[in-house]
Amino acid sequence: MRLFDSHAHLDFPQFREDRERLLEEMRDQHVAALNVGADLVSSRASLVLAASHAHISAACGVHPHDAKDYTPRAEAELAQLLKEGAVAVGECGLDFYRDLSPRDQQERALRGQLHMARRLELPVILHQRDAWEAFVQVLREEGPLRGVVHAFSGDTAKARQVVDLGLHLGIGGPLTYARNHALRDAVRVVPVERLLVETDCPYLPPQPFRGKRNDPLKVRLVVLELASLLGMRPEELAEITWNNACDLFGVRPTF
Ligand SMILES: [Zn+2]
Repeated sequence: MRLFDSHAHLDFPQFREDRERLLEEMRDQHVAALNVGADLVSSRASLVLAASHAHISAACGVHPHDAKDYTPRAEAELAQLLKEGAVAVGECGLDFYRDLSPRDQQERALRGQLHMARRLELPVILHQRDAWEAFVQVLREEGPLRGVVHAFSGDTAKARQVVDLGLHLGIGGPLTYARNHALRDAVRVVPVERLLVETDCPYLPPQPFRGKRNDPLKVRLVVLELASLLGMRPEELAEITWNNACDLFGVRPTF
């Protein structure tokens, strides 16, 4: 079966030693990935990875942690990068958990990138942590939107809000954590055509790998867990989430 990891950071230093080997293993095991930029440097690195690997695509954006650097000049540079083969804008969003950038600047950077996505007719990769009300407020004001709330971790009510906003949900390793009953309930109320699977590697490894580095091959464990929750065969869910990602990002990865 073929698998689409809709959120990876393979350009990060955690993969410095074995990046090419991992990319080859992904090709052998038919695992495609969207590599997601978090600032201008990683956005450029994502484009480089995508240009040299037919199973990798790139998103370019500025993470809320780095929103303090989202100057008009950075925005112009991002717009330029997005025209060089990116298939989505992001990741962008609000993170009031770590608050590494002032909240008003986070919101300004998010709105700026949503406008850019609209202008370029690209989907958005959205990050949200401990900022739900403000996040939904901005999305309502800036909508309608196409894109994904990545690493979705809310309950049934929040899952429905994401669906109502017209967005997809990115489901990752935390689905496999024993205590995460709320998330396992939430995915059941989402139409399957709105589900994407992801790793957010090197972060958020699924259950047996907690504390270790995550990688796109482990998206298989998310698919197994999600398929069993939805009462589907893993092959069937893998194909549906593959097609969901291809349709949303307008890509056709090959191996
Ligand atoms: Zn990420």
